[in-house]
Amino acid sequence: MAQEDVFKKLVAHCKEYGFVFQSSEIYDGLGAVYDYGQNGVELKNNIKKYWWDSMVLLNDNVVGLDSAIFMHPTVWKASGHVDAFNDPLIDNKDSKKRYRADVLIEDLMAKYDAKVDKEVEKAAKRFGESFDEAMFRETNPRVQENLAKKDEIHQRFVKALNDNDLAELRQIIIDYEVVCPISGTKNWTDVRQFNLMFATEMGSTADGALKVYLRPETAQGIFVNFLNVQKTGRMKLPFGIAQIGKAFRNEIVARQFIFRMREFEQMEMQFFVAPGEELNWFEKWKETRMKWHKALGLGDHKYRFHDHDKLAHYANAATDIEYEMPFGFKEVEGIHSRTDFDLSQHQQFSGKKISYFDPERNESYVPYVVETSIGVDRMFLSILAGSYCEEEVPGKDGKTESRVVLKLPPVLAPVKLAVLPLVKKDGLPELARSIVDDLKFHFNCQYDEKDSIGKRYRRQDAVGTPFCVTIDHQSAEDQTVTIRHRDTMAQERVKIADLKGLIMEKVSMTELFKKMQ
Ligand code: ATP
Repeated sequence: MAQEDVFKKLVAHCKEYGFVFQSSEIYDGLGAVYDYGQNGVELKNNIKKYWWDSMVLLNDNVVGLDSAIFMHPTVWKASGHVDAFNDPLIDNKDSKKRYRADVLIEDLMAKYDAKVDKEVEKAAKRFGESFDEAMFRETNPRVQENLAKKDEIHQRFVKALNDNDLAELRQIIIDYEVVCPISGTKNWTDVRQFNLMFATEMGSTADGALKVYLRPETAQGIFVNFLNVQKTGRMKLPFGIAQIGKAFRNEIVARQFIFRMREFEQMEMQFFVAPGEELNWFEKWKETRMKWHKALGLGDHKYRFHDHDKLAHYANAATDIEYEMPFGFKEVEGIHSRTDFDLSQHQQFSGKKISYFDPERNESYVPYVVETSIGVDRMFLSILAGSYCEEEVPGKDGKTESRVVLKLPPVLAPVKLAVLPLVKKDGLPELARSIVDDLKFHFNCQYDEKDSIGKRYRRQDAVGTPFCVTIDHQSAEDQTVTIRHRDTMAQERVKIADLKGLIMEKVSMTELFKKMQ
């Protein structure tokens, strides 16, 4: 199936099964704003717990914080967001559609990558087992030609970004004949900068209200609380502060579902270190974060690092963790070494000293920061994209039938166990309910007695429930049930008393963390 179709199906599936709804849908929706339904909120909460526990429980030098969305407006002056939190936008004059110039160019480069991949795929099929991919990539003229084109664009792109040269960004779009996907024309406006912050007014005084912003990132709440946490927690460097919260950006292009939203949620951790130690910590956090992603078992090949083409002026290292979405490899998380820029800026703009006395070095300094910043919603999308499967499975009378199954990592699945009485009589519902009542304190269980067992299995497959147990007449006699495993559909008879241990082993985050360490 074409990746575009997979994505469309995924979006429809999210709605049909209560994962994600368009915001204000009955009023025709609000662009790039989404609500999470009954299953979505469970998955989202599990993602947040997986992140939070991996930061705050597993590291005794990382503590949490929950700072407010509104902050003093000078915070955003100090952080550079008022002056420079911009995206380069470009309009197509015929379709009147607006695009991010940098994204158009990134997509253009991705097209050359896709051409190369196609050549490699074709050749691999042709040559079979004797295929030497590395050699093919190095010597095939078509591959070389596409790589050279991409390289040429890449060099111009990086230079234009670094020089802040908006005319050159436009020129790349013109030179490589990028067309608007809607109108199909190359009739482009100039490239302009657009600030992404939402502003509103707070209070009403005689002098007028205070202009405040909806935070575009959670990180600044951590920086301005650095001293509060360090002093009250008697924290010694190196240490980190973790926070999960909403962020808001007036994104120019609102496409790709929950990948790019105007209201979204971030999980950020700022790790404060002594000057000179930041690059070591940058490498450590890169490795730790990649391990965290891969531990979910969606496939190691789906992740890659992508170093930034343009380093922010205050950063001395930056990389993204990208996941292979149905629309290509895309950023899910950023890891940045931000030097002492943020704390120094807040020191300067607030006029308050922000420094740390290091007893080992016997000196005071402004700490350096390594941050890990991941979007909950993008993580959610990557998990769903990696889990969505359509399969042909054995059905009745030797025929096959198709099923849609979300092969979610069991620790993240919204429902861990569905308990299904075979019939609605003979005491089976009561026995089923007593199992739910027993296990619901340990993990999310669902009771379902409606429709045939086959239909009930399909419903649970579609929301990614890793285990279903069926209660039949034998269960009442010998206290055993049939447990069905979602991915293999294998069934086995087990004692009711063993259910908890069996399921806990697969759905518990603690078990996953133990394996990771
Ligand atoms: P992009 O280049 O895709 O706009 P970014 O580099 O601006 O993203 P950061 O500022 O590094 O993103 O934000 C950290 C994380 O927050 C991102 O890796 C992403 O997961 C998430 N994020 C950023 N913007 C959005 C958005 N508009 N919608 C959903 N998640 C977002």
